Order: sequence, then structure tokens, then C-alpha cells
Amino acid sequence: MAKGEPKVAYFCMEYGLESDFKIYSGGLGVLAGDHMKTAADQDRDLVGIGILWKQGYNEQVFREGYRPYNAYPNEKMNYDFLEDTGVKVTVEIREREVTAKVWKVTEFGNADLYLLDTDLEENFGADSWITDRLYGGFDEHRIAQEMVLSIGGVRALRKLDIEADVYHFNDSHPVFAGVELLREKMKDEDMFFEDAMEEVQEDVVFTTHTPVKAGNEVHSHKLLRYMGAYQHLNIEQMVAIGDAPFSMTAAGLRFARNANSVASLHEQTANEMWDHVDGAAPIVGITNGVHRGTWTDERITSALEEGDHEEIWSKHQEIKGELIDFIAERNGVELDNDKLLVGFARRAAPYKRSDLIFSDPDVIDEYLNSGKIQLVFAGKAHPLDDTGKEIVANLLEMAEKYPESVVFLRDYDMEIGALLTRGCDVWLNNPRRPKEASGTSGMKAAMNGVLNVSILDGWWPEACRHGENGWAIGTDPKTADDFEGDYDERIEKLDEYDLENLYDVMLNDVVPTYYDNQDKWIDMMIESHNDTFEKFSADRMLKDYYELVYSPEESK
Ligand SMILES: *Cc1c(COP(=O)(O)O)cnc(C)c1O
Repeated sequence: MAKGEPKVAYFCMEYGLESDFKIYSGGLGVLAGDHMKTAADQDRDLVGIGILWKQGYNEQVFREGYRPYNAYPNEKMNYDFLEDTGVKVTVEIREREVTAKVWKVTEFGNADLYLLDTDLEENFGADSWITDRLYGGFDEHRIAQEMVLSIGGVRALRKLDIEADVYHFNDSHPVFAGVELLREKMKDEDMFFEDAMEEVQEDVVFTTHTPVKAGNEVHSHKLLRYMGAYQHLNIEQMVAIGDAPFSMTAAGLRFARNANSVASLHEQTANEMWDHVDGAAPIVGITNGVHRGTWTDERITSALEEGDHEEIWSKHQEIKGELIDFIAERNGVELDNDKLLVGFARRAAPYKRSDLIFSDPDVIDEYLNSGKIQLVFAGKAHPLDDTGKEIVANLLEMAEKYPESVVFLRDYDMEIGALLTRGCDVWLNNPRRPKEASGTSGMKAAMNGVLNVSILDGWWPEACRHGENGWAIGTDPKTADDFEGDYDERIEKLDEYDLENLYDVMLNDVVPTYYDNQDKWIDMMIESHNDTFEKFSADRMLKDYYELVYSPEESK
């Protein structure tokens, strides 16, 4: 551990440490899990605070008529690796004392992670259910969960005798920890609000994750006060922190002395998006990275480093074969190892346009009917997102329409994520720019020599050398604002523009290179690996966090 380095307490709603440890839903959790593992690899003085989700995240159930619905396991999941710290904390929620037990997890080569759990005898009725489902509730339920994470988390640190120098709010769910830090100073040290705020700001850093409006939570003050999230603060003070209605992201930016976004393009987008928040911390860009021990396959990465074409292809085919076997077992569909396999796994959110490639059957039909292009999809919709579920329904319909070349794997999780990002030939991403904040699955793919074919959004503009280490969908990328008309018209034109570019690159570059120029393809795999293995590792990312936000030279 470097001398003089600050001790960091990292707060996050979800952690993806291991596929079957279901306290994560997707990108945010996987990033947090990678952060924790890398902190351990680098021997950093960092602990994590999270929640032990009783029923995890929703499972995907399909029924006739296609629309998937959510299901949750009935039983509390049993994890034998949880260590009992013996510590319990209480948080006053809806004027009731809610108790949370604190567990510790060190099982996955991660820095110490403390998880709060309200599923206890002493909590009655609704209170024991607070930590039931990740993102499974809204309003009261969500706020109660966030209060346990935030307020309970700070109190857990105190009881565990962990003295943090830096409180890192990873996304806005933990911002009530800032209110708790204020309460300590105002109540215990008799400070005035403004002075206490200044002191709190010296210790807080904040990461903003999503340029999508719905991803940025807002709550009514009435509800926050009723829940007890105000603690001892009054409405003027809470409005000063988070505006009215209360914006969780604005609050994070005001509590923090330093803030960051998760890619360079996102730095620009985030600074524009939050420009109106007075007193906000400056937002610097720290591009996400992935934990190589978790996400890369030694067999292919060493072959790519050696550079022998035959060896690379044989390893790649072997790993691709394992994915194809997995798909056969799960879905009963036998894909062809010698045909192009394109992967697409992401949360089914409208801006991600998972089904874009199917938009014009006149163009794409022949490729899918012949199997010249094979597609494998995975991804859940947010439990409350009906449009997202319609997208999944459409993907299932496409899998029926092209039964030999299109598959949808249900219950996207870390296991499927790992199999896909090493076993496909191509990793496809076609979000509406600039809505993709970062997109770490593409980094996993790139390191394993799986070539990215992506809109220049999120992390990809920082890595893409078009035609050399992957491909851009449209080398002159556009946003809806580049088109004329009302909102719907502009979106429609953008979708048309991106679709044209998608077909162009897929059919005129990707397919011919794959089938007719394998040497070039393998060269591109090597370039893809070389350009990303260091640069988009969590190793590099964590060093950036220490340099730019945990102990930076400049702050607010
Ligand atoms: C890597 C990963 C993600 C994040 O990938 P994005 O590119 O941001 O969508 C989400 N879910 C799982 C299971 C992953 O492994």
C-alpha cells in the first residue's frame, strides 16, 4: 500500500463479483466488482459498502405471446461464504427503527466488502423486506433501500472502526450518506450547515454513470421527508443540496469535491447535462476498465501475444466451440463454428436498439437464412421497463423466424457475459449516440480478440481504428440533434442513418473480411488485443481514480 494514500470507502447499490452471487444486475455492478478485485490486486486501502439482496435481481420468464415477465426466487439465497461481522446498525425509516446486519465478503479475491441486510427477526413487516430485490421497487421502497445503503453504510463503518478519508458514491444511490455525514457534524460537533457542508465536501467523491434521463433518479421532497431521508435537515437545506424535486445526481455533484464520468465522450456529455447545477464538483473523465483476471481467457490472450496466426485461430475456434456447445445445451440450437458469429448482450433499453439489425428484411434476410451471419443475443429489461420487455419479445420472435441462425439466451449474467465476450467473432453495439456512457462488454471482447463493430459512442471512440482493430458503424457519427424535425422525426432519421451504416459496414467490410481474408481478420484480432489490454484494464482505471479523484491535485 502506498504511504499517505487515502483510505477509501466505496458505496454502490450492486456488486458483480461472481456469476451466481446475485447481488448485481449489470454494468454498474460488474464495474463495482471489478473495482473491488483490482483494489485487492493493487493492495489498496479500500473497502466496499453494499446490500445483501435477498432475492437478487429478476429472472427472465417467457410465456406464450412472447412478452417476458419477472420472477424472483422464493427462498432466501444461501451463501456460505458470508462472514458475520457481529455488527448491527439501525436507521430510522418512516419513523421506525430499522436494523441492518452487516456481513463481510472476501471470497472473490476482492477488497473487504460489507453488505447490509434487513431480513431480520427484529424488523417487522415491510422493514425486513427493504433489502429484497435489486431495483425491484420505486419511490418508498427504493428510498428505503438507499437509506439503508447510505446511512446504514456510514454507521457500519463507524461501528467497524473503519476510518475513511474518502467516501466514494458510485452513482447516486448512496447520496444520503452525505446527509448522514452532515448530521454527524451538525449534531455531534455542533456545526452550522454551511460549515458542515464544506467539511463533508472535502471527503466525498462522486461518479456519474448515465446520460439517460430515466437513469437519473429524482424524488419529491414530501416523500423524502416522510421517509426520514432528511434526518435533521430542513427543506431549504435539502433543496440547496438536491434542488426541488430532489435530484440524486445534483446532490452527488454538490456533496463531492471531485466527480467523474466513465469515458471521455461521456465527460463532455455529462458536463453539458449538469452544467446548470451550481456548486457542482468538476467532472473529469475516467474511462472504465475491466478486471482481466475475470474477463479474459488466457488461452487466447497468450496466443494473441505470441502472434502465430494458426495458433490464434485454433484457440479462437476452440473457445467459440465452447460457446456454441453452451448455446446448444441451453437453447437446443446448433450454430456453425465456421460461420460468422455476432454477439449482442446488453440491457434491453430502447436507446440500445438491440433489434436494429432486423429493421430491413429485404437486406438482412438472405444473410440470416443462409447462416452467413449468426446472431446471439442476451439481455434483461429493467423490471419496470415495459418497452424494454417488448424489445426482448421482438428478439424472441426473430429467433423463431430464423431458428438456425438467431438465438436469445435468457438470464444474461456474468457467466454468459464471459462466454460471449470470448467466444463470438464480432461484438456488436448500436446505441443511439451519445447515450452509451461507456460499455465495458466491448472492452472484454476486444481484449479477447473479438472484434468490435460499434457506433462511435461510449468508450469506442477512444479505441477504434476503423478497419484495423475493429469497425465503426458510421465514421461520421451523428446524434438526433443533427437532424431536422420534431423529436420523433429526428430519432427516426437517426435510426435510418445508423441502420444504413450498420448494413454498409457489416455486409461490405465485416462479412467479406471474415470469409475471404482470414489473415487480415487475425491481424485485426491482434491489434484489438494490443490496443486494449492495458488501456481498458481496471488496473489502469483504478490508478486513474487514485490520481484524479481520490487524491487529486485539484478539486472544488
Ligand atoms: C460486462 C457486463 C455488463 C456491462 O456491459 P455493457 O457493455 O456496459 O452493457 C453487463 N452485464 C454483464 C453480465 C456483464 O458481464
